[in-house]
Amino acid sequence: MAETKTFVTEEDGVVKVRTCAWSPPGDHPVGCGMFIHVKDGKIVKVEGDPDHPITQGRLCPRCIALDEVVYHKDRLLSPMVRKREDRGRDTWEKISWDEAYDILEEKIREIQKEYGAEAIFTLTGTGRESTLYAPVYGPAIMDTPNGASTYAFSGEACYGPRATISNYLLGAGVPEIDFAQFFPDRYDNPEFEVPKYIMVWGKDPLYSSPDGFFGHSIIDLMKRGSKIITVDPRLTWLGAHAEYHLQLRPGTDAAVGLGFLNVIIQEDLYDQEFVEKWCYGFEELAEACKPWTPERVKEVSWVEPDQLVGAARAFATNAPSTATWGVALDQSKQSTQGAQCFLAICAICGYLDVPGGVTITNPTSFIGQWRYDMGDTLSEGMDEKHIVDPTGKYALFNAGAAMGGVQGDTLLNWLEGMYKDDPSYYDLRMCWIIGNNPLACMADQPKRWYEAMKDLDFIVAQDIFMTPTIMALADLVLPLSTFAEHNGLVTPNYGRNQHFVGAMNTAVENPNTKSDLEILVDMGKRMRPELWEQFADVDDFFDQKLKENYGYGLEELREKSVIQPGYEYRKYEKGGFRPDGQPGFYTPTGLIELYSTVLESYGEKPVPYFEEPEYSPVSQAGAVADEYPLVYTTGGRHISMFHSEHRQIPSLRALHPDPLVTINPATAEKYGIQQGDWVRVTTPLGECTQKANLTNEVNEKTIHLEHAWWFPEQDGEAPNLYGVFDANPNNIMPHESVSVTGYGAPYKNGICRIERVSGLKGNGGEQ
Ligand code: SF4
Repeated sequence: MAETKTFVTEEDGVVKVRTCAWSPPGDHPVGCGMFIHVKDGKIVKVEGDPDHPITQGRLCPRCIALDEVVYHKDRLLSPMVRKREDRGRDTWEKISWDEAYDILEEKIREIQKEYGAEAIFTLTGTGRESTLYAPVYGPAIMDTPNGASTYAFSGEACYGPRATISNYLLGAGVPEIDFAQFFPDRYDNPEFEVPKYIMVWGKDPLYSSPDGFFGHSIIDLMKRGSKIITVDPRLTWLGAHAEYHLQLRPGTDAAVGLGFLNVIIQEDLYDQEFVEKWCYGFEELAEACKPWTPERVKEVSWVEPDQLVGAARAFATNAPSTATWGVALDQSKQSTQGAQCFLAICAICGYLDVPGGVTITNPTSFIGQWRYDMGDTLSEGMDEKHIVDPTGKYALFNAGAAMGGVQGDTLLNWLEGMYKDDPSYYDLRMCWIIGNNPLACMADQPKRWYEAMKDLDFIVAQDIFMTPTIMALADLVLPLSTFAEHNGLVTPNYGRNQHFVGAMNTAVENPNTKSDLEILVDMGKRMRPELWEQFADVDDFFDQKLKENYGYGLEELREKSVIQPGYEYRKYEKGGFRPDGQPGFYTPTGLIELYSTVLESYGEKPVPYFEEPEYSPVSQAGAVADEYPLVYTTGGRHISMFHSEHRQIPSLRALHPDPLVTINPATAEKYGIQQGDWVRVTTPLGECTQKANLTNEVNEKTIHLEHAWWFPEQDGEAPNLYGVFDANPNNIMPHESVSVTGYGAPYKNGICRIERVSGLKGNGGEQ
């Protein structure tokens, strides 16, 4: 068949729609290119698009199983409502979209009138397409300030800390590996150089493709000669292929980072010219690193000195090298400290914004700007009603540098009434849950969230499947379309390091469902027509925004499928980062702030430091640490699932049927545990149960727990709620284990004990 570049072709009764994937079903904005084959109006096959510049025909199992998702018997295909007193019971009644919108409008207006719009808040999910639109629901539909990108998530410790620290230290978007992603001719582009080393810190991108970084690009670079350094408590596939593997104690990233910097500084391996010209605070950074000898780093982090020193030397002396960072850096109590070290390493080695180094861009995509413009539409006086901790905690978070919203721990405290006596307090009455399943996935201590939200007057949620959270709490549910059923666009890194814009094209019609943006525009027109009447529909929205910002429209994007913006290296020499067009960086000092004047102004130390996690063998030394002798980390991804999604998809569940706790075989033997046994993991705060997977991936002192498990095959009604509280490691986390910034979370580190039990609930074998 002749190759075509248009996005819809037909042969022998099969229509092929060329598109770029996002979600739902869940994924980060990787935008993998694919052809969706449609026969008689139904998806019959999905195949990779070999002409997609980044993914080049490769797909993971989640998109290959798209038809199983779209036509699943449990798919939500109609808005549904139930009585408030029936929360937790399967008494849903199907209604039309008009009826659903009428109910929603009436409830919002009722609450606005009786209690003020601030009594409404939104909860947003992670990574999905809704990430772009959900922050606007609160301000631009309901006029509430409590509606930005708020997760039910301790310290909003996913991407936000890294994005924030990038804003403050570099005045730029989020750094990423240079894998020639901006150039249509990719690795053949004459400006590009293959990185000598790639350091992968707290991340497993082959499985997770986080934030739009296509993990298999690392394989492409390895084939071209790049060598690997990994920093991870787990020996991942990349770690097994690395020259250096720094197997740290979970939660000690900042100690390892300080030691890594110290080797580079003490041995004069850094780029002195770059540091002198473009960095601020090098002396103070060097002073902060000095105590962190390889021996001290080993004592704290368990990383072997030869691995630390070898990795630091190899990284610093092999220009250009590059690095990528993961959510593990966000998810310790310290949060921003590890990230600060990571950026300082890249900066002093001179690897920022150079070929084969680390790409950084202005976060000025239309997506980013549009969100801020529409988010800035509150009526007079509403901004002051934004929920913040009345004691003045978390000023940096509340300044909204990168993510904005209500700090997750503050929100739970507020819902539980902790601040009831403060003059700023008011009751929350309504919640809109947008692509989020907090009881399974995002919330630490999910039972507390459940209890705290149970008494709200009204809860609406939208998703493609029933979830434990919707069954437990919602009164109205809106069915979402999958990415195969609506138009949209995908922008990696949410626009903060946007190497392409891709078109998401409707392949099959599903008039019973709507996209997150359709719901936003529909409800916006009802509630605040002055903001939304300017857009005839979602296509018109995309068309206007693309033309305003890039000079091309939606149809051109759809025809081309992907448009890459190109990349200019060393923008700091040419004024490419600053609005005034001057050389340098868009920071208060105009330089990369190794000593952060912004952190200092918010009460955080300006140079990185290490602090023990709240629950660690050191901070709890003595009776508590003796009772809980192992360290846990959680949340490593499996390629067949995205957070709490995909548990009901047969082919994907077959790849990974059970929640797995990874245990070193020697540790398992000590506790009488064998492969496949059910294991209860207990901390001072709770317990969860998962199935033993014995492997040397972790050392003898560490275990790894999978997150976000629930069981769609189980009874959905309360109190079981699809078994959501049984295997969930968020049960065992402390609340509000965050830094003074308001960022940080304990998802990646804590102490525990393990024991063999007879079944999932540990009391007789039910599974
Ligand atoms: S990474 Fe997997 S789920 Fe995500 S868009 Fe690509 S193929 Fe689809």
